[in-house]
Formats: sequence, structure tokens, C-alpha cells
Amino acid sequence: RVKELGRASFRFHQAQADTAPRSQMHIDHAMRQALVSGHFRLHYQPQIDLATGDVVGAEALIRWRDPVLGDVSPAEFIPLAEESGFIIAIGDWVLAQAVRQAAAWRAAGWDFPVSINVSALQFQQADFIERVASTLSAVGLPPNRLELELTESILIHDAEDALHRLKALDQLGVLMSIDDFGTGYSSLAYLKRFPIDRLKIDRSFIRSLPGDTGDVAIVNAIVQMARAMQLRVIAEGVETEPQRQFLLDAGCHEFQGFLYSPALDVPAFEARLGRPAPPSKPSIRLVTG
Ligand code: C2E
Ligand code: MG
Ligand code: MG
Ligand code: MG
Repeated sequence: RVKELGRASFRFHQAQADTAPRSQMHIDHAMRQALVSGHFRLHYQPQIDLATGDVVGAEALIRWRDPVLGDVSPAEFIPLAEESGFIIAIGDWVLAQAVRQAAAWRAAGWDFPVSINVSALQFQQADFIERVASTLSAVGLPPNRLELELTESILIHDAEDALHRLKALDQLGVLMSIDDFGTGYSSLAYLKRFPIDRLKIDRSFIRSLPGDTGDVAIVNAIVQMARAMQLRVIAEGVETEPQRQFLLDAGCHEFQGFLYSPALDVPAFEARLGRPAPPSKPSIRLVTG
């Protein structure tokens, strides 16, 4: 597997060197332009409680609709932004935008955490924790209404430094999850030490459920481990009813995927949700009436 990855990335870099430097520079320039021109948007994908069907969260996913380039996939430009360092500017924008949206939904009566994807460079910024804290306090969003999605590679890169940061973020009260769980160099020891709230099972393990016995074993093992460690566990990329049924039986808590909904723009997301749930506390009118 490692060998395969090594070969794939070698091919990628070679192809880039042969044909792509100009277009990479072009994309990099276009990205800077897109940020100032407002061509980035956040779409939100609902996260669903497997048992109740309730929407329990939303993952913010960046979208770039460029007047010249058309739609550019984050799978294409995020890696380039990570290489050039521009991911810091994108990451700040995503953080501010998602926190503002979460606060607006909360004010409207939808009260669930919004998740954002955090890149390594962004997480490793000296003042990352202060940036998160000040963004939250600027709009008055309770920290536990923001979740940071981190990958295993971020956590393992400099585990001691990562642990310090995670502890500070945990102190602040934000939620943290491990994205694409199972694809990196997972260490069970880290899982025990790190104040993580949730594992997101990578969609590559979900795709062939329930037919593939290897994936069945992997998903069962992740879910049981997560439950034993009192972590929530969410399955990514759920597209079919048999996949959902399998995950429910396996004891997984939540899912996101095309079966329920792709990522949607804000109006479509709100329409998909319907009316906000009634406030959980009785209003003053009810109490005094
Ligand atoms: P991710 O964080 O693992 O996000 C999940 C990806 O799976 C999204 O692709 C989503 O649209 C897609 N997906 C969701 N449900 C299904 C499904 O049922 N079937 C299939 N086939 N796919 C599904 P997207 O939006 O293209 O994002 C790709 C990746 O780009 C993300 O993977 C994340 O690593 C990165 N990314 C996206 N937005 C941001 C961002 O704001 N900041 C950073 N740093 N990275 C981002
Ligand atoms: Mg994610
Ligand atoms: Mg915590
Ligand atoms: Mg993922």
C-alpha cells in the first residue's frame, strides 16, 4: 500500500513537472483573485443521526465557481493551496464564514455544530488557537457549535505539538474529529491521548458495504473501538439504503452522504432542513401566560 502511494505520488509530480507548472501558477493566481472577488462559497452537507434521522451537524465544504475556469473542485485546488501556503488565507476565510453561518442558524433556531476542514499549515500556525477563539467571540458562537476536522497525518506529523494544540482547543471547548479515519497511519495510542470527540470513517471503507467482508470487518472494528473509547463515530459517503442499514446495525452513530444529501448552498440546505425545531426551553410568553 505504501509502495503504491509512493508510486502514485511520483507519477503525479513527474506529470506536473512536464506539463503543469504554468497552469499551477495560473490556478494559484486565480485563487488569490477568487478570494478577493468573492468567488468562493461554502456549501453544507447535513450529518444525520442514524437512529433518529435528525440533522445533527453540517460539514462546510468549499466551492469555487470561477468566471473563467468554471467550477474547480477542492480536491484539485486545496492541495495546490497547501503547497503555496495560500491555504492559510483560504482557511481563515472558511473559519470566519462557517462560524458566521453557524451563528445565523443558531439565531434562527437550528442549533447544531458546523464542521470545517483544517489543513496542516493552518493548524500549525502559531496563533491558530487565538484565531479560532477570536472568530467565535466576534459573533458570540458557543465553541461547542464548531467542530474542527483534522486528518491523521496532521496529528502524527509532530504529535507532541499536536497534543498541546488539541488540549488548548479542547480547553476552549471546540469539538474535534479525525477526518478520513482509517486511511492514514492511525495509532491507537494517539487516539487514547488526544481529546478527540468523533471519528469520521473514510468513505473508501463504506463504498463496498455490506458485500465486502474486509470492509465489514474494518467498519465493525472502528465502530466498536470508537464506542469503547466513548468517541462518536460518523460514516462518510453513505450512498445506499443497505449501507445505512448496515451502519445502524453495526452501532455507528451518524452518517453523511448522498443517500441523504450532497453539500448544498445555504438556501437549499435550509429548504432541505425545513422549519427549525421549536426552542427547547419554554419561552417567556409561555411561562407567564
Ligand atoms: P472531505 O473533508 O473528506 O469531504 C468529503 C468529500 O466527500 C466532499 O467532497 C463531499 O462532497 C464528498 N461526499 C460527501 N458525500 C458523498 C457521497 O455519498 N459519495 C461521494 N462519492 N462523495 C461524497 P469535496 O467537497 O469535493 O471535498 C473534497 C475534499 O476537499 C474534502 O474531503 C476536504 O479534504 C477538502 N476540502 C473541502 N473543503 C475544504 C475547506 O474548506 N478547507 C480545507 N482545508 N479542505 C477542504
Ligand atoms: Mg471533511
Ligand atoms: Mg472535547
Ligand atoms: Mg473525509
